[in-house]
Amino acid sequence: MDAVDYQQLLSDAMAAARRTVGTGRVADYIPALAAADPDAFGMALATVEGEVFGVGAWEQPFSIQSISKLFTLALVLAEGGDAVWQRVGREPSGNPFNSLVQLETEQGIPRNPFINAGAIVVTDHLHSLTGGAAHAVREFLRAESGNPMLGTDWEVAASETEHGHRNAALAHFIASHGNLLNPVETVLDEYYAHCAIAASCADLALAGRFLARYGLRADDTRLLSRSDAKRVNAVLLTCGTYDAAGEFAFRVGLPGKSGVGGGVLAILPGRAALCAWGPGLDRAGNSVGAVAALDAFTTASGLSVF
Ligand code: GLN
Repeated sequence: MDAVDYQQLLSDAMAAARRTVGTGRVADYIPALAAADPDAFGMALATVEGEVFGVGAWEQPFSIQSISKLFTLALVLAEGGDAVWQRVGREPSGNPFNSLVQLETEQGIPRNPFINAGAIVVTDHLHSLTGGAAHAVREFLRAESGNPMLGTDWEVAASETEHGHRNAALAHFIASHGNLLNPVETVLDEYYAHCAIAASCADLALAGRFLARYGLRADDTRLLSRSDAKRVNAVLLTCGTYDAAGEFAFRVGLPGKSGVGGGVLAILPGRAALCAWGPGLDRAGNSVGAVAALDAFTTASGLSVF
């Protein structure tokens, strides 16, 4: 049905990403991530019909990190957790993902669900709704990707816990404003456990497909209403790549979510979900290679939301 040659577009996008090799820095503030190969690259695309295309290391698992925040938000909304919007905003922060400054002036209500502060609140909300936030994310990813092996890399989670002073500060500050339902330690454990999930580009493209299908899961049951799917995509576009969301929208023109493991999951509503991965990051914490590849893909194909 689709005349687009996705395989060729992915090959060309990988060639564009290859030109960025050597630029960007691997996240080393989480020591367990510092060993990632800065030259690695992979990209996968899953169509709404369920076809999967890939290039490079598209089946190699990596640490999904903040890409998990897309799934925590979607699962909260799927569980009827609309009240989460009283606890977290939906404006771009214009600040780094781990910034503390706005929380003080904004009384412990994080700007959006995708900066760390916001994701901590969303994780807390999901934990109260389900009794196991990270478990819910893992189960969802397994079901959508069809990969039962997908799971948390506990070495990465432990590394984050050990070095997570900033996240602990954010969580305590939020708690001081009465905006956490569960104990700080519980929320941080859950947060790290979903950030430290290891998944491949193919897994994530398949798992993101529900947003390209206006809320429908792989088994055709509805996860989100069409309106909530629209809303999640909108917040991804405006906030999914932190203080570089404007640049990402300018270059790529798709809703997308990045993580410091080097992955970026982007949504082409009505058509496909794409995931690109390369561990070298720019100053905002977004993968240089993955953004370059997505930029090349949408620029060459004209496939974007604009
Ligand atoms: N787990 C990471 C952290 O809390 C997630 C950051 C990211 O991927 N941007 O710092």
